[in-house]
Amino acid sequence: MPQVTLNNGVRIPVLGFGVFQVPAEETEKVVTDALAAGYRHLDTAALYGNEEGVGRAIKASGIAREELFVTTKLWVHDGGEDGTKRAFETSLRRLGLDYLDLYLIHQPYGDYYSFWRAMQDLHRQGVIKAIGVSNFYPDRLIDLIENSEIAPAVNQVETHPFFQRADYQQLMAERGVQIESWGPLAEGRNNIFSAPTLSSIGEVHGKSVAQVALRWLIQRGVVVIPKSVRPERMAENLDVFDFALTDEEMSRIVAMDTGASVAFDHRDPQMVTQIGGLRVD
Ligand code: NDP
Repeated sequence: MPQVTLNNGVRIPVLGFGVFQVPAEETEKVVTDALAAGYRHLDTAALYGNEEGVGRAIKASGIAREELFVTTKLWVHDGGEDGTKRAFETSLRRLGLDYLDLYLIHQPYGDYYSFWRAMQDLHRQGVIKAIGVSNFYPDRLIDLIENSEIAPAVNQVETHPFFQRADYQQLMAERGVQIESWGPLAEGRNNIFSAPTLSSIGEVHGKSVAQVALRWLIQRGVVVIPKSVRPERMAENLDVFDFALTDEEMSRIVAMDTGASVAFDHRDPQMVTQIGGLRVD
């Protein structure tokens, strides 16, 4: 599995496995299947309510800890630095781990400067190998960088053929921040799996739409974490390293960009209130 080196020297596999919307009671099985398929990079979050299932699957797999790359995310809370350290300990306990590879601020809401200070401390202590953010738009990312000691290693943002974020990727690269795509398959929206451009490129290579979309992101230098509960799709989504898209094919996919989210805009005041007001245990 190819890896990308983050701004602090930590290496992250370019393709991982996401577990958003995998029900808690199914997570152990789903992650066990994903590990059996060959995934070694897992992406969960306190919000998803399934960290324990991820942890049980890791433990049962017997895979050496150093072979795995595990990410979880801090949800919005009211506890400042102390609350962040408590939330980190809770996630670590649920995952059954003694360190995290990557810990992300899940949303750019609440007192996230205090969250970041605590995460910097935990990173210095060595219990988090890399710290980053998610869903940060350029203004918030740059302000955090300008006002912190440690720049985020990663920004996990919605990125796929309909919402490509090439300019933002360029800005992140200039600041040493690795772009990571959530929703690399656009969560199945906009009829992505029958999109003519992706289908016709797939036919040429004997690959599926999902494989073309993932390959396109990886060739752009984007880290991807597709989710599937089905073993055959888990294997399909991993099988993207035996072909390459031509420059012309890459450009045809660039033409699919709508410049807009298929989910929602994190700057929408209604969403700030709705999502920023959610709390998890
Ligand atoms: P994805 O873009 O990965 O799409 C997942 C959907 O595509 C599911 O419905 C899945 O169905 C289907 N699918 C997967 N593979 C295939 C395939 N080969 N052919 C056809 N259908 C397929 O969406 P996600 O939202 O899950 O994003 C991936 C990960 O990103 C998440 O799991 C999570 O870890 C992270 N994420 C982070 C967010 C954040 O705010 N930081 C927000 C959203 C996601 P099925 O399972 O039935 O196969």
